[in-house]
Amino acid sequence: MRKDDCIFCKIAAGEIPSSTLYEDEDVRVILDLGPASQGHALILPKDHYDDVCTLDEALAAKILPLAARIGQAMKKGLGCAGFNLVQNNGKAAGQTVFHFHMHVIPRYADGPDMVCWEPGSPSREELAETAAKIREAL
Ligand code: 5GP
Ligand code: ZN
Repeated sequence: MRKDDCIFCKIAAGEIPSSTLYEDEDVRVILDLGPASQGHALILPKDHYDDVCTLDEALAAKILPLAARIGQAMKKGLGCAGFNLVQNNGKAAGQTVFHFHMHVIPRYADGPDMVCWEPGSPSREELAETAAKIREAL
């Protein structure tokens, strides 16, 4: 199902032009207009899902192998040394377009840090409490 006012629905449907790397009946893979590095791509389902929590499971199972294939093609075609798969869910997590998408970000040797954080140092008790809260909510 599409959402009328969604830009990624329009791009995925081909109504707004994009630099398309791959397309099939379920997805379109495009270059990001504001790339973190050369070749930064977005995997867009053709149907609208707000985020990973509502994504169809069969489609989800297709997206990870496709991301790996795109990443391999980036290594071969662009000479990147690796790639990150990034997928933001919710405003607090940095999601700005609320149509599910997976970023495939090429990483070049000696390129800048991008996906990084300061490691915390929780105690064993804190880890156990945190794990219990998540487990009980599953
Ligand atoms: P998010 O922050 O939601 O995970 O990622 C949204 C991404 O979509 C950003 O990297 C942004 O540069 C990209 N983007 C936003 N609008 C457009 C657009 O109209 N076309 C393309 N190709 N990328 C877009
Ligand atoms: Zn959409």
